[in-house]
Amino acid sequence: MIEANYRNLRVVDLFLELAGMDSPSLSEGKIAAWLKQYFLNRYGVVVEEDGTAGIIGGESGNLLVRIPGNIDCSKKLFAVHIDTVDPCHDKRIIVTGDTIKTDGKTILGADDVAGLASILAALEEVKTSALPHGDLELLFTVAEEKHLLGSSHIQKDWLKSEVAYVLDTSGAPGIAVNQAPGHIDFYFELTGHAAHAGIAPETGVSAIQAAAESVSRMRLGRPAPGVTANIGTIRGGTATNIVAENCEITAECRAQKQEDLVNQAEHMEDCVRQVCKMRGVKLEVKRHQSYYPFITPENGKAAVLFREACEKSGLDCEFQTGGGGSDLNHLVRLGIEGIVVATGMENVHSCQEQQSIKHLLQLENLVVSLMSA
Ligand SMILES: [Zn+2]
Repeated sequence: MIEANYRNLRVVDLFLELAGMDSPSLSEGKIAAWLKQYFLNRYGVVVEEDGTAGIIGGESGNLLVRIPGNIDCSKKLFAVHIDTVDPCHDKRIIVTGDTIKTDGKTILGADDVAGLASILAALEEVKTSALPHGDLELLFTVAEEKHLLGSSHIQKDWLKSEVAYVLDTSGAPGIAVNQAPGHIDFYFELTGHAAHAGIAPETGVSAIQAAAESVSRMRLGRPAPGVTANIGTIRGGTATNIVAENCEITAECRAQKQEDLVNQAEHMEDCVRQVCKMRGVKLEVKRHQSYYPFITPENGKAAVLFREACEKSGLDCEFQTGGGGSDLNHLVRLGIEGIVVATGMENVHSCQEQQSIKHLLQLENLVVSLMSA
């Protein structure tokens, strides 16, 4: 349900319609079907879908729309993800003055519908005003909220663009992230030996104690500039009178440089390995690099074109270092230079998530400038 008191604005109408669809990760079928219909009806364009759905067990693969250019200039990619975090069911969206939010019981989904609505509205503006533009690719990814899972399966030859704009970070339009960390996650499974805690504790080997000692040895939090590390969960044991046989730890680390990332991961793994060896605990480690860090130069093509588009749209351009990953981490690995563009979304991944309409309109203008630059 939507309570609205704003004037009819294309980008806001699109935002409200798209945010109103439940689209949690792996259940993007409805919004994917809507996009396919939208591009077919409006532009006679068939949306391409890759084979990711079958690989990750989702309702939809990544979607791609190719809009041929009417002039010869840089081929540009615009990307957003079409999944959201939970809770996202039965949203009640409220528009008060300049702010779009929910009743506080669900997320809004401005992450990443603000970007999606802006791309659709901007394309409509480019087309109806017959603005000159080069070849455009619009990429809609799935399962981004699962550590960028959907875009990790994109095949190299699918995308033809030279520069990429991923609309998926907080902050006022004009801000962009040109540097972001890579990410490694861990699952440690510790197996000790169970024993009666009162009668024969000496014969037991506590997996919980080994886990605790391992974690206490780790450098965590922000152990060095540009590096972060965290223990996410710890789970183990069955009862107070049993020396715990099992304990599981999940953890992650991030770093702006691949070398620092690997060093931090090695350190964390070593801590657990050494303690387990010392205490006679069996250890299984699953370590996975979900994405790689990137740095896009401010004098490179993607950033220069962005700065020009900001000037054209009357926005202050500012490049920042990000703390999280986005689909751009994968696109850069495919050889496409890019930046992550701020969309004005606020308090994302919480039920207090909100979007300013002013920012949405600024973003639409900015995307029009980028598309037609
Ligand atoms: Zn996002």
